[in-house]
Amino acid sequence: MPIELPRQQRTGQPKPTWLKVRAPGSPEFLETKDVVKSLKLHTVCEEARCPNIGECWSHRTATFMIMGDLCTRRCHFCSVKKGDSETLSPLDPFEPDRVGIAVRDLGLKHVVITSVDRDDVADNGALHFAKTVRAIHTHSPQCKIELLIPDLRGEQRDLRTILDSRVDVLNHNIETVPRLYKKVRPYAGYIRSLSILSMAKEIDPNVLTKSGIMVGLGETHEEVLRVMDDMRYHGIDIMTIGQYLRPSEKQLPVRAYVTPEEFKSYEVEGIKRGFKFIESGPLVRSSYHAWKHTVEQPV
Ligand code: SF4
Repeated sequence: MPIELPRQQRTGQPKPTWLKVRAPGSPEFLETKDVVKSLKLHTVCEEARCPNIGECWSHRTATFMIMGDLCTRRCHFCSVKKGDSETLSPLDPFEPDRVGIAVRDLGLKHVVITSVDRDDVADNGALHFAKTVRAIHTHSPQCKIELLIPDLRGEQRDLRTILDSRVDVLNHNIETVPRLYKKVRPYAGYIRSLSILSMAKEIDPNVLTKSGIMVGLGETHEEVLRVMDDMRYHGIDIMTIGQYLRPSEKQLPVRAYVTPEEFKSYEVEGIKRGFKFIESGPLVRSSYHAWKHTVEQPV
């Protein structure tokens, strides 16, 4: 029987109240800002103007973005600046250690490390990820480490390099339903992204695998449920679902504001399908509540 849902709120109206958050400003927030600045690091929290920054940083969770701030892909939902052979810089050999120091100085208990896509680097940045993980192990042995990686162009050898460094959670986002890939992620592949996650489980059965999608890009409820089935088929443990918000006029417009009730129904469906954790809500981002997934009991 089809599930009756409240209608999605159409765009062209003021942003719904459920997407509003209070401005951050706690002592932890200011401390994190200082450390990030003094060590010349990038965080997605700041660069993407993430609405959850106050909450995450006060829970001592942050997402660092390594390998520069220029990306070699052209995804149509993302505002990270695009790089090419003229503008991309070589990887900074001291960056892994600086990330390790930042994690130690901030006393982070769970850190998420992500990167821009570096298709120009022979190993897709795998060794740089691994060095960063090892630096965090050295400076903060108790800190849980989650990596949000690019698709590595499907290279199993690079995935192995990363997993050999011992991570707690391996995250790679599917981002959207397969029908919308051409429009949203034209240089990526739905099957390739799912395969990276199933390969990770084969290489290291102890690693928690995680993936997420944005909704509000024109997908249907049934398509989201099919993505959940595909994720479970590929052994994915944790899923995130959040509202797509257009970073600027240059990116795809928001097609719908999904209601909190519909997000809740996705959560219920995810639990039924056996995810260990599912975070589904308007403000959920890939790394939102990331600390819960390694310290609490599954839902
Ligand atoms: S949800 Fe992720 S990107 Fe946003 S503030 Fe939290 S850790 Fe940073």
